[in-house]
Amino acid sequence: MRISALLTRGSAPSEIVEAELDTPRPDEVIVRIEAVGVCHTDLVTRKRLRERPAVLGHEGCGIVERVGSAVDGTTVGDRVVISFASCGGCAQCRRGLPGYCAWSAALNGSGRRLDRSPTLRVREEPVFGAFFGQSSFATAALTDARSCVPVGDVPPEVAAPLGCGFLTGAGAVLNVLRPRPGDRVLVIGAGGVGAAAALTALSEDVEVLVAEPVAERRELMARCGATVVASLDEAIPAVTHALDTTGRPESVTRALGLLQPCGVLALVGLGPPDVTVDVRSLMLRGLRIHGCVEGDAEPSALIPELVRRHRRGLLPLERLVTTYPLADFDRAVTDQRAGRVLKPVLLPGT
Ligand SMILES: [Zn+2]
Ligand SMILES: [Zn+2]
Repeated sequence: MRISALLTRGSAPSEIVEAELDTPRPDEVIVRIEAVGVCHTDLVTRKRLRERPAVLGHEGCGIVERVGSAVDGTTVGDRVVISFASCGGCAQCRRGLPGYCAWSAALNGSGRRLDRSPTLRVREEPVFGAFFGQSSFATAALTDARSCVPVGDVPPEVAAPLGCGFLTGAGAVLNVLRPRPGDRVLVIGAGGVGAAAALTALSEDVEVLVAEPVAERRELMARCGATVVASLDEAIPAVTHALDTTGRPESVTRALGLLQPCGVLALVGLGPPDVTVDVRSLMLRGLRIHGCVEGDAEPSALIPELVRRHRRGLLPLERLVTTYPLADFDRAVTDQRAGRVLKPVLLPGT
């Protein structure tokens, strides 16, 4: 199938190219992409691939256009969010923790299917595709039906980040931290993940404190009901739960210092591997540190729950999103880095 795709190649400007998408296998579908979020992992991967041409994008949302012969439960015409890929059969997938799938690295980051076959060609040559089992910076994406979660009439630009960034933040709160009304949660960093976490905690009737250096993001979080500080160096009351989205060692240390006894810190940001932790303090204060990937979420369960909360007005995720045409990817990245936008979402149909 002929599609238009956004081709990236290291630090060179991105370009829209004609590409050939492979035919769906029995368990695969083709989704016409209406909206696709830009997530930090897209940018990290572009850097990792250096000069290798790639079609990235892993927060696709759109309309199912074709289904493979063995697909059950996903129908042509459904609006779906495409979440990360997982095998469905390994021990972690069977436990409902597909973020830790035994095949996760190959399925999400190898650039091909698990059997090494390419899914995307540009000028007859295979390019890095199948990113997070989708490569949705394109007018259509080929994906495993297992990764598709129906979202009904939610606007696609709001639904798209539920595939990864919003899922990660919301899942970290609901699956890992699990605060109760009256608790106080500290969220460090109000990018796409942190802001979604803050809104989710607010929807649980929890007091939320957000630490974020960018003034516009702080103002947005304050309007949504959070208490905000510019830096962790400010006077901050003790908290029952903390979420670090920055990966900065000093944030982790400071968050542990702010936790009440028996508090829990969840980590979703990748930073340097070494952080000095006072394990005596952990033990004596009953603290827990909990790493988590994709919010420990089973997308087919958590995404519908987040959609329900959005419909009831409890989760105003639309306030986090700014849309761009697909061709304006480079501008979207620049705006996000400058703090002018929080969550850029590309619209391949415009
Ligand atoms: Zn698995
Ligand atoms: Zn992501």
